[in-house]
Amino acid sequence: MSRFWSDLVATLTPYTPGEQPRVEQLVKLNTNENPYPPSPAVITAIQAATGDGLRLYPDPEAAALKTAIAARCGLDAAQVFVGNGSDEVLAHTFCALLKHARPILFPDVTYSFYPVYCGLYGVDYRPVPLDEALRIDPEDYAGENGGVIFPNPNAPTGRLLPLDAVRRMLDLNPDSVVVVDEAYIDFGGESATALVPEYPNLLVIQTLSKSRSLAGLRVGFAFGQAPLIEGLERVKNSFNSYPLGWLAIAGAVAAMADEAYFERTRQAVIASRERLTAGLESMGFEVLPSAANFVFTHHPGRDASGLAGALRERRILVRHFRLPRIDQYLRISIGTDAQCSTLLEALAEIL
Ligand code: PMP
Repeated sequence: MSRFWSDLVATLTPYTPGEQPRVEQLVKLNTNENPYPPSPAVITAIQAATGDGLRLYPDPEAAALKTAIAARCGLDAAQVFVGNGSDEVLAHTFCALLKHARPILFPDVTYSFYPVYCGLYGVDYRPVPLDEALRIDPEDYAGENGGVIFPNPNAPTGRLLPLDAVRRMLDLNPDSVVVVDEAYIDFGGESATALVPEYPNLLVIQTLSKSRSLAGLRVGFAFGQAPLIEGLERVKNSFNSYPLGWLAIAGAVAAMADEAYFERTRQAVIASRERLTAGLESMGFEVLPSAANFVFTHHPGRDASGLAGALRERRILVRHFRLPRIDQYLRISIGTDAQCSTLLEALAEIL
């Protein structure tokens, strides 16, 4: 006879993590990590923080980190929230700021975790179709809603919404919280953080996972005016009052300080993206314009699932989504030039 808790557990959706095999045997271009290591200054700072200080609980405010991040975007520390990766910041955002009697809006093709958070926190939502070129049109987000959230650039399309269109989204929704998820903004877009002083309804979310090569450290931020940040702090405190451990704080502060390394690796990824795009196009692929560290592409003559399978047999991982509208696309993360060449050579054999 089953116990009542077995039935309860059976109602919970199991977590299926992104594929994370042993990387040294693979060309891993499926989860948008940075192909370059973090700044050497990050490693030094983390090593320096692994001493007797670990005996002590971390600073519940992560004040040193908030100050470092705020200074970089011309805000003050009360306008910054930090969490364990932007996924945690997003979870708190859905819980604190997007729960509403009216449905929230996000694109029909977007980051797959948004509907998951809605399910978790009982948030009603309405997906808004992208246009025929898989773009977000702010005009489609007019009218009453419980909030708006979209990645910029969007994932998995890589398409960027220019800052004036983000502004239009905010002007159309003065009574809703508008969340701009800027996980990939450093690879080609202009951040909406500059609009924070002007719009009390704007929350911008960023991460160190992509452009700072620190997916394994788990550090994400939100920027907004103090009342929105206060909402996030209240929810965070109700779960657990330590946003980050000492090692994450030390590594993140060092990462934010090394602008030269950031700029070099960021430009390297952008240059590889342009080379990969040209290589794919020369083989007949159509590639959406990308402002991210991945490209979204399809081949008019070839089935995307078959291509992903053939690449996998050659130990190259890319992402294929079995979803309406995008099931013929592949999302390919930008690797080093050597990895991109390996991919292009494999595709030339397969086609
Ligand atoms: N937002 C978007 C659009 C993403 O693609 C991702 C990463 N897959 C995240 C947020 C979460 O990133 P992290 O938790 O590593 O900061």
